[in-house]
Formats: sequence, C-alpha cells, structure tokens
Amino acid sequence: MAETTMGTNFIQNAIDEDLKQGKYSDGIHTRFPPEPNGYLHVGHAKSICLNFGLAERNHGLCNLRFDDTNPTKENTEFVDSIKKDIQWLGFSWGDRMFYASDYFDKLYDFAEKLIEKGLAYVDDLTAEQIKEYRGTLTEPGKPSPYRDRPVEENLDLFRRMKAGEFADGEKVLRAKIDMASPNVVMRDPVIYRIAHVAHHRTGDKWCIYPMYDFAHPLSDAIEGITHSVCTLEFEIHRPFYDWLLDSLDFDPMTRPRQIEFARLNLTNTVTSKRKLRQLVEEGYVRGWDDPRMPTISGMRRRGYTPAAIRKFCEEIGVAKADSLVDYAMLEHCVREDLNENADRVMAVLHPLKVVLTNYPEDKQEWLVADNNPMHGGSRFVPFSREIWIDRDDFLEDAPKKFFRLKPGGEVRLKHAYIIKCEEVIKDAEGHITELHCTVDPDSKTGGATAGRKIKGTIQWVACQTALDAEVRLYNTLLETDENGNVPQDFIAALNKDSLEVIADAKIEPSVKLTAAGTHYQFLRIGYFVVDPDTTPEKLVFNRVVGLRDSWAKAQKK
Ligand code: ATP
Ligand code: MG
Repeated sequence: MAETTMGTNFIQNAIDEDLKQGKYSDGIHTRFPPEPNGYLHVGHAKSICLNFGLAERNHGLCNLRFDDTNPTKENTEFVDSIKKDIQWLGFSWGDRMFYASDYFDKLYDFAEKLIEKGLAYVDDLTAEQIKEYRGTLTEPGKPSPYRDRPVEENLDLFRRMKAGEFADGEKVLRAKIDMASPNVVMRDPVIYRIAHVAHHRTGDKWCIYPMYDFAHPLSDAIEGITHSVCTLEFEIHRPFYDWLLDSLDFDPMTRPRQIEFARLNLTNTVTSKRKLRQLVEEGYVRGWDDPRMPTISGMRRRGYTPAAIRKFCEEIGVAKADSLVDYAMLEHCVREDLNENADRVMAVLHPLKVVLTNYPEDKQEWLVADNNPMHGGSRFVPFSREIWIDRDDFLEDAPKKFFRLKPGGEVRLKHAYIIKCEEVIKDAEGHITELHCTVDPDSKTGGATAGRKIKGTIQWVACQTALDAEVRLYNTLLETDENGNVPQDFIAALNKDSLEVIADAKIEPSVKLTAAGTHYQFLRIGYFVVDPDTTPEKLVFNRVVGLRDSWAKAQKK
C-alpha cells in the first residue's frame, strides 16, 4: 500500500506550499482531462477521485475537459460514457464541461504569437527525418535546415497550412527551443500538424490540429487551472509545459503548475484504453461494460459500487513511484461496502430437491428472516414440504468433518427447521435425484428444540415458490504470472473460463421484480447484483465478489 492517503499526499503538500507563497489567491482549480477515445477504466477512477477530491478538499473547483485534439480516434459515444461514469462515481463538474476543441481558435492565435516571437517555425522535414534529426538520449539532435526561416515566412506558411494548401505530413509547426537539450522533448517539439480529417465537434473547419503537449498546458491556462495533475510519463514533458507558458507570458503567480503522480497498475488487469478497445472490437468480451472489464461501466455492471471504488482510490493513495496494487484490495473494498449495505437472501446455485416426508403436503409457513445484520429489516420466506438445497451441501460418503447434510445426519436450515436425511433417491444411472428427509417440528426459532446443537447450517429455497434465475459467475479475465503481471501478449493470456453461466439457479420469492443494479448477499455464497439483462419474467444475476476476503486475510499475516 502507498505510504500516503488522498487526504495528506505530496500533491496536497505542494498546494499548501503554493498557497503559503501567496500563489493562486483566487482558489484551487483542477481538471480531469480524458481523451474521448474509449471508455474510462479503473485507472481513470483514481485520477477522477484525485482531481475532484483535491478541489473539494481545498474548497476549489474541478473541470471536466475533453482532450479532443486527435480527431481520428474520438467520438461522441465515448464522450457520453465518460460523463455518465464520472457522475456515477459521485462527482460533479457543475457547469464547467469543456473541450480542448473549444480553444482551437485561441490555440491558433497562441501559435502565431510564438512564431512572431521567433519561438516557432514551419518545418518541411518528413516525420521520419524529424525523428532522425532529433538525436538520441546520448547524442544531441541537429537542427532542421528550415529552422531559421524568417518570422514572416513562417507566418505565411502557417497561415497557408491552416488554409489547406498542403497535404497531410507535408509541413509541421515546431517550437524552437534547443536541439541539444538533454531532454529530447525539448528538441523542438512539433506543436501543429496537418490532418485533413473531420473533427467530431468542429467538423471540417480545421485541417491543422494542435499536438497534445501544446494544447494541454494552454487549455489549463485558459481555464484558470492551478494544479494540472497528471501521470508520471508526463514528467519529462513538464519543462515544455513551463517553457510554453513562460514564452507566452503567463503570470507565474497564477499560471498552472504540472504535478505528476504514479498511475494505478492493478494485478491481473490491463489498464490501457488501446488494449481494452481491442478486447471489445475483437469480440473477446461482450462490450465495454462487460462485467469482466476493468472499465468503470464494466465495474458498475459487475456490481461494484461508487462508494467502494472511491474508498479503494483513497486507500491506495497517491505516490510518486510506480507500483502494482493487488486486485484483491479492490474486491475487499467492494465486499466491505456490500457487507454493510446488501440485503441477505437465500439462493441455491446447484439445486437438489429435498422432500420433507413428515411435513404436511398442503402446508405453507411464512418464516421471518432478517435482511441485514447492520441495518435490520426483515422479510417473509415461505417454507413447504419440498425444498431445494445446494448439491454441494450433501455428500453421500462424507468425511467426519463434513458438517452439512449426509445420510443419517442432521443439518439446520437457515431461518427454519433442523432436518435429518433419511433416504437418498437415485435414478437408473445412480445419480442422486432427491433426498428424503424429516423435520424436527419443534426446532424452529422459539420451539422447544430450537437450541439443539447442530454443527452445520445451510440455505434453502422452497420449491413451490422458488424463482428461476440465470446466474453469471466471473473469474479473472486474464491469466498472469505469480506476481499478477499480465504478459505482453495479453490476448494469449485470456482465461477461457472467465465466465460461467448457471442457467437454473433457484432464488427465494422476495427478490421478485427487482431490477438492474440491486445488490444482494446470497447467504453462504457471495455478493450478487441484478444484471440489466433482467426482465420482469427472467432474473439474471452477476456475481460481484465471493465472501472470502483474501486481501484482509493476507493483511493479518
Ligand atoms: P490510456 O493509457 O488508458 O489510454 P490515457 O492516459 O491515455 O490512458 P486519458 O484519457 O488521456 O487516457 O486520461 C485522462 C486522465 O486519466 C489523464 O490525466 C491520465 O493521466 C489519467 N490516467 C489514465 N490512466 C491512469 C491510471 N492507470 N492511473 C491513474 N491515472 C490515469
Ligand atoms: Mg492520454
């Protein structure tokens, strides 16, 4: 676990330091800047919690800004999903939803200003040549032959780039900084490129588009962002961030400051939009919201709660060094939340019929069962002569330590009676088809023998009133090495058994007519959520997480 929590992290310390120096007297302002080229994943959840959390903690504001500078990969489906996911996590951008594309005119003007200051030039080198000229980590780059074009010529060429006179790749605009800089990012980075493609918001207005490194700092500055929090890979871009804002004369007392933190890596999980997109597009999962996906929409459908995800993000904290967080910790947070908040019900995943031979055929009792030990509440559960129990709760040749049902043995039915197994009924092939048992009629709560010592208690569902349900059990989507690292070829690591569908589970009737998103604890089995595939006629559940908490257990060792 990281050494810090969200409340007292190094970013907050930096903010405190800035405020002490009299900077940012108008208040703290952060932003979450997704590129709308995919659905958000659990790593983004960390960034959302961090950015909105910092704003909240400092009585400031957090903007949502779509970083839509790359028109070829972006679309409105992604924009809509991103908005929905942030709101679902419990955060609000108020009336401050922006797009980098809102600033295309301003960004263009800034580019001209750089040219006028002799700090940018139009380059005719091809992409390959630019790469070649850039040098390496150990060798300095060499200047482009076009580097010293006069300001007027640069202005003219840049305007003609904008006017559509050149083909894609024919020219670029570059910042003029230092081709010998030890930081390769500072070796005259490209800031505008030609791309004759329509943009999902600006249509055909532009055929030149700003590069991320140029658009991002300026978008931050335009919006009055004070702290531009991003992941570590941008650390080497920070000198350019500062160079750009300095070159364009933004006031050091108010202009944004970039601070980097380590991205979230989770065991057994890929957190790269590109890879997640591949899983969706090549049909390895049912969609972006497949419950096995580490996307926010996948986690929502899986039954993870916003509170659990926020808690998780708080617990992992923010650090400056990359680390791998155990997926079990996320599950732990989900389990804790559901343990407190999910109602308990009885369900049988692998039904085996039990006939209670001494219980009247026409009798039905309504037993009372508690919903949740923490919040109280109760419900009626019908009991009758024929019930379902789980096949795994009966063993014909049971070892001594098996405390569930066995021939001649007794077990307590949760919320009901003690029963004894009298006879095992089999078909011609020797498969067990049903059990004949007797009830101890006085063993119900309040009865004379209710306190009788019985080692095992199992759940059950009365046959007559049972609801049929489809239950989807999920296992890890990707197989990993023993440390939880996903191999490079993650497609080859896909787990063939990541989804197991039980078509004929039985559930007590109290859950009738519940719809998508409702959580339950199936007693003794795990936490489940009603899937959106559910209709009033057919229940479909997803297993959220099992009951066993491997993370909490490991912490105790
Ligand atoms: P990906 O690598 O999945 O494409 P990205 O960084 O390109 O992610 P963006 O849409 O640009 O995706 O990300 C929006 C914000 O979320 C950025 O500030 C980025 O730093 C942050 N972010 C992305 N992935 C993670 C992660 N794994 N942990 C923490 N923050 C992340
Ligand atoms: Mg990105």
